[in-house]
Amino acid sequence: MIQHLIASVTPRPLFKLFTTYTNPWWRAAGYTVDGKFVPVESGRTVTDLPVRQTYYWPKDDGKPATKGPSMLMASYDDGTDIGFWDGLRPRRHQTWQARRQVAELVKNPYLGASKQQSNSEWDKYVAPTPMVEEVARQLATIHGLNYTPKVREAAFRDWGDDPFGGGWNSWNIGVKSWEVKQNIIQPFGTDRSLYICGEAYSDAQGWVEGALETADMVLEKFGIRAYPKNG
Ligand SMILES: Cc1cc2nc3c(=O)[nH]c(=O)nc-3n(C[C@H](O)[C@H](O)[C@H](O)COP(=O)(O)OP(=O)(O)OC[C@H]3O[C@@H](n4cnc5c(N)ncnc54)[C@H](O)[C@@H]3O)c2cc1C
Repeated sequence: MIQHLIASVTPRPLFKLFTTYTNPWWRAAGYTVDGKFVPVESGRTVTDLPVRQTYYWPKDDGKPATKGPSMLMASYDDGTDIGFWDGLRPRRHQTWQARRQVAELVKNPYLGASKQQSNSEWDKYVAPTPMVEEVARQLATIHGLNYTPKVREAAFRDWGDDPFGGGWNSWNIGVKSWEVKQNIIQPFGTDRSLYICGEAYSDAQGWVEGALETADMVLEKFGIRAYPKNG
């Protein structure tokens, strides 16, 4: 019974790839309005290439990087586009049993300038060289440039990897989500004090609201109401 409830959703990967540079080269890909050049410096670019979304990462003070060391969230991807990157990285679900980090399975890690900073957090998520080369190609395309400058460091994370299995979940087709959502809260009934809640089995999958909604449902089992029903 509990297996049936747990299997009523499908975990979905979410993918992020970060790249750093000596300078914010993307400024040069700006445009001219009324004879005045407007640099690209904040926000994001969206494309139908597998890179999907590129975010121009601000400095620590929240302002756009205008010179010096700078960073992109080069790709923020979900859905079917993640499959594009799958061929450029270690297969999923190899790490849990082997008790290894994904980075340890990357055959061709992109070392860039990070050679001087081994054991940094970046190294734990080092990106494969073919992935960095491909993202550079797509970044040049979406910015209308022939090439982009050398990447200093690159790190990727995919929440489809172990132990997460997914960054968010979706109800399987045909599942009566409104019933599963209630039944999974205390799957063995009042006989056993086992409770399951979280975004996965909620009406707001993919959002913190879903986690809060179902946490509230657990609290209600104890007669506690965290927020008014219609409030
Ligand atoms: C990349 C990304 C971006 C997101 N962006 C947004 C956003 O902008 N806005 C938004 O609202 N939501 C966003 N979300 C979704 C949001 O983070 C989740 O919906 C929310 O965190 C789910 O909460 P949860 O309590 O259900 O699960 P989690 O937050 O996943 O909590 C589960 C906890 O259980 C722990 N755990 C797992 N297995 C074990 C075990 N065996 N023993 C002990 N502990 C264990 C985990 O370490 C984790 O701390 C994003 C998610 C991702 C991955």
